[in-house]
Amino acid sequence: NEDFLKHSSKNSENPKGMNMYEKAAYYGKYKKAWASQGHFNYRQVCLSGALPEVELLLPGNPNKTLISVVSNDYLGLSQHPDVKAAAITAIDRYGAGATASPAIGGQMDYHQAVEQKIAAFYRQQSAILFPSGYAANVSAMQALFKKEDFVLADDSIHASMREGIKYTTQVKTFNHNDMEHLENMLKLIAGKYRSVAVVVDGVYSQPGDIAPLRDIIWLCKKYGAFLVVDDAHGVGVIGKTGRGVIEHYDAWDDVDLITGTFSKTFGHQGGFVVAKPEIVEYLQFHAAHHTFSVALPPTIACVLESIALVDREPQHMHRLWENLNYLNSGLKGMGLDTGNTTSAIIPVITKDAGLNAEVCRLLLLEGIYANQIGYPAVSMNYARIRMAITASHTREHLDRILNAWAAVIKKVKSIVKK
Ligand code: PMP
Repeated sequence: NEDFLKHSSKNSENPKGMNMYEKAAYYGKYKKAWASQGHFNYRQVCLSGALPEVELLLPGNPNKTLISVVSNDYLGLSQHPDVKAAAITAIDRYGAGATASPAIGGQMDYHQAVEQKIAAFYRQQSAILFPSGYAANVSAMQALFKKEDFVLADDSIHASMREGIKYTTQVKTFNHNDMEHLENMLKLIAGKYRSVAVVVDGVYSQPGDIAPLRDIIWLCKKYGAFLVVDDAHGVGVIGKTGRGVIEHYDAWDDVDLITGTFSKTFGHQGGFVVAKPEIVEYLQFHAAHHTFSVALPPTIACVLESIALVDREPQHMHRLWENLNYLNSGLKGMGLDTGNTTSAIIPVITKDAGLNAEVCRLLLLEGIYANQIGYPAVSMNYARIRMAITASHTREHLDRILNAWAAVIKKVKSIVKK
């Protein structure tokens, strides 16, 4: 089993010499082998009830109420009455779906208003919407960067960015947040390509740390590189008024392309790109997931409310930070390794896939539903339990989480940092 896992983890996606059915069967065997080691199969989890307190329906474990730390609803806005009301009004007005792509009739006044509002949120003039944050990243990167260009990407960028730059342009990664490495690479390729882009996340979705954006901006200016920042996890969390890393670093005019999602802090779904009008107009025609895919449903109108609520009700962000500080210091106090997080993502790093699975299983028994993160989301030896904390968690929830970790530590002493 061990040998099979070691071998198959590298080959499970694309084993050689197999037809589609054999390939799928091989993957099934791989998944079973993982499951036999106690790994949690996330597709078997079915949530019911409102987050963050959820009922987790698992085979053989029905109706157990767990504390969830898997939602990215950082300010709790998906549950906000004003946000829900706006979605309902929009459905009443337009129906349930947009039913055509923005290019051929699916664009509504709601979409236009959201584009203007999210652009203004970042003190810019233009934005463009996509079916998801994932689609925004894939599509914008593929539309902009071609084989004549060169992209330097942080090695920890989100899968969607990686997907976006993988096929159409030339790419190299630099070590996570390593500015010396980035500068060396910029030096090496200077003047050799039509254009050079640097692609980073604002907040990194697995470690929860943030990009050293000031240094990155300085390097981009020095070497004439185009800067792309995906701040999916920064908005609503970082910056004095929740404008993410852009505000944190006072970088309003220094980033060429900001990408993000409405699926986390804004409590709904859909992706966006904020950029100068000429770039946005280019994307309106060339970004396939915008041009050829259906426009976001009318419920996107609810995002007008959630964007406004970031300013109107700052108490949610304050509450979030109280929660984060309380939980993080509690976990650190127990000797757990939460890395360098400065965001709503708190990882507990185990560096061992087997240990990770066991810890996650024990947490679940203690009533905590956390994400078990391993390859391919992070490299093999950076396995971690990932918790996303929101403003909706109460002090009682947080104490239950800390108590659960204390109970797990008693059983698995090796997760405590030496
Ligand atoms: N970027 C980052 C950094 C993310 O973490 C995610 C989602 N996990 C996305 C983009 C994609 O967003 P969406 O879920 O809206 O497709």
